[in-house]
Parts: sequence; C-alpha cells; structure tokens
Amino acid sequence: MLKTPAYAALDPASPLVPFTIERREPGPHEVLIDILYCGVCHSDIHQARDGWGGAIFPMVPGHEIVGRVSRVGAQVTRFSVGEAVGVGCFVDSCRQCPSCNAGEQQYCDFGMSGTYNSYERNPDDRRFDKSRPTFGGYSTQITVDQDYVLRIPTALPLDRAAPLLCAGITTYSPLKHFGVKPGDRVAVVGLGGLGHMAVKLAAAMGAEVTVLSTSESKRDDAIALGAKDFAATRDGTVFKTHAMRFDFVVDTVSAPHDYNAYLNLLKVDGTMILLGIPEAPEVVSAGSLIRKRRRLAGSMIGGIRETQEMLDFCAEHGVASDIELIRMDQINEAYERMLRSDVRYRFVIDLGTLRHGTG
Ligand code: NAP
Ligand code: ZN
Ligand code: ZN
Repeated sequence: MLKTPAYAALDPASPLVPFTIERREPGPHEVLIDILYCGVCHSDIHQARDGWGGAIFPMVPGHEIVGRVSRVGAQVTRFSVGEAVGVGCFVDSCRQCPSCNAGEQQYCDFGMSGTYNSYERNPDDRRFDKSRPTFGGYSTQITVDQDYVLRIPTALPLDRAAPLLCAGITTYSPLKHFGVKPGDRVAVVGLGGLGHMAVKLAAAMGAEVTVLSTSESKRDDAIALGAKDFAATRDGTVFKTHAMRFDFVVDTVSAPHDYNAYLNLLKVDGTMILLGIPEAPEVVSAGSLIRKRRRLAGSMIGGIRETQEMLDFCAEHGVASDIELIRMDQINEAYERMLRSDVRYRFVIDLGTLRHGTG
C-alpha cells in the first residue's frame, strides 16, 4: 500500500483537514497517477456537507483529476509512464449492463463506482465492496483501471483541463444528446463552473447563447466567454422580456429556484435540461410544459468514450476552463466563495502544494 497525503471531510459539519489515505499498488490493468491538479465542483460541497444524504465519511472529495502516469500494471496497453491523463466522476462500473455496454457507464444499472463517496467493486461479482470506500482527487496520487482513464490532448494546459473532467463533460454530453445545432438559441442559467463551460461549448457548437445570472457583475465575462446576450434574473423582468425565446434552457443552478419561471422562456417544443442538483425538490406545474409542448430533461456527466471525445473537441476548438489556481489549504475558503457564487469560474487545486507541504 502507498501512503498518500490527502484532505478529507471527517463529518458533514467540519471544515476539510489534512488526512492520510492508502492507495493500492496498480494491479495488472491499473495505472498509478501522480495527481497534479484537481478541480473543485459544487458536487464536492453538496457531498462533503451531506446535502444529498447517504454520504460516506471520512470523505476525500475531488473528481476533476489531471496528472501523469507514474506506474503501470503488467497488462496495461493504453498508457505509459509520464503520459498526461485524467480521471472524472467514476472509476469503475459493472461492465455488463446495457448502459455499460453502450459506453454510458454513468448510468450503470448497478450504480457507478464514484471517484469518491462510493465503493470499489469485487472483481468476481462486480458488486460494491463496502469495505473499500473510494477516495478522490484532493490527494497526491490515485490508482485506477486503465479503462476508466482519459488521455489529455497535448494542446490543453493541464490545470485548465482538469474541470473538463466533470464540468466539461456534464455540459458537452446534453448539448450533443439533445441535438443543439448552429443557430439554436440556448439559455445558460447560472454562470459558475458548469455554466461557463456550457457557454463555451454551446458557442463552439454554433449556438446563440444567452446567460441568465443572479450576478449582474458577470455580464462582461459572459460576453467574453462567448455569449451573445446576458440578462440579470433578480428583478424578474427577464421572465417577461425573454418569454418563449429559447430552443434550450441549460440549468446549472446549485440552489433551489423556480423551474416554472425558466420553462416559460422556452419556445414551442423547447427543452429545459436540468444539470444542477439542488438539495430539495422543486414543484413543476403541468401547465408550464403542456402549454407549449415543452420537455423537461436531466443529464448526468458522460461516459468514458464521450469524455474522450469532449477532450479532443476542446483541444481542437481551443476550449479550456477559466480557473483560479489555489493551494490545498485554501479549500475551505474556496467552498465558502462558491456558496456565495464568487468563483470565476472554477477553483483548481495545485496538488504540488500538498505534495511539497506548502499547502
Ligand atoms: P458553481 O460553480 O457553484 O455554480 C453554480 C451557479 O449557480 C452560481 O455561480 C450562480 O450563478 C448560480 N446560483 C447559485 N445559487 C443560486 C440561486 N439561489 N439562484 C439562482 N442561481 C444561483 O457550481 P457548479 O460546480 O457549476 O455546479 C452546479 C450544480 O450542478 C451543482 O448542484 C452540482 O452539484 C451540479 N452538478 C451536476 C452534474 C451532473 O452530472 N448533472 C455534474 C456536476 C455538477 P450566477 O452567479 O450566475 O447566478
Ligand atoms: Zn462534478
Ligand atoms: Zn453497468
């Protein structure tokens, strides 16, 4: 076993603290990765504070991992030592169900093995092994099966690539799946980590993007990120001026808000895609959908094949995340700032600061 420095939440109410975990030596099909950077997703906060329920403690969050391969198992064919690689939101799945067979491991019938706050699997029956919790990227190294590892194209800066492993694929996958095409009018609700990637990716796909934000101060950034239009939502006038205007509404908001107000911004046959996961349910009135034959959909991250496709798309289109690089010991402050919507637009932890004891 390999002693590995990390940061962990020990319970839902306390700040994250330094913590030591053990990583396994890579098995025949596994790689050991030296983690260089890890993005900070709002899901890390929901889970570390047990906002969705069922959290497993101690918890080492982090599922936007970029690093370099430091060791490979005897039968690893896809990666070699020194290569730049990524790990996203899951590290394993059953590998046998229809979703896994379709390359959509995130929808595995038996549940994916999340990169953290989840469990490794028994090799024989592929079921969760509850004695082996998974630990995420707020740590200096991780051991992962090669089939769940992504290749980071050389054109992408490694720190700015880390958020693509969750925020990037979570926004890319539904834009593709629901068929966003050049000229479509897309509203992105919430300009945070997911939102800013949705703007960049939808614009790169040729859509006409409008940002709907509670923060008037993000107007110039929205335009610089690729949006054509921006509207502040706080005073409510946008819900009249922009009614029935959009083909798609991409909702990335992390906190409770009125879905009906945003549904009314859709044209006939428009689709609202929920990506944000508030901690309490919302009421949707049937009329908001029925009146204009609208659809309300959801989408969760993306499979391994599509995540690689997204990384290659980003390299080709010069898309990467706008980040603020932080030391490991700034994580609790970063959480507080994200809860105030004060992030431009993704915090990324420099794990060198944990490895070398400077953070
Ligand atoms: P984030 O960086 O904190 O951004 C969330 C944004 O939502 C904020 O910047 C803010 O934007 C807006 N917002 C916050 N509170 C609001 C409120 N009360 N009313 C209206 N808008 C509000 O978070 P993130 O990392 O992008 O994650 C967003 C959500 O997606 C989280 O719930 C996360 O768990 C979820 N998520 C889902 C998936 C998936 O697979 N579906 C994957 C990753 C994350 P403005 O300042 O512009 O208003
Ligand atoms: Zn995430
Ligand atoms: Zn499966």
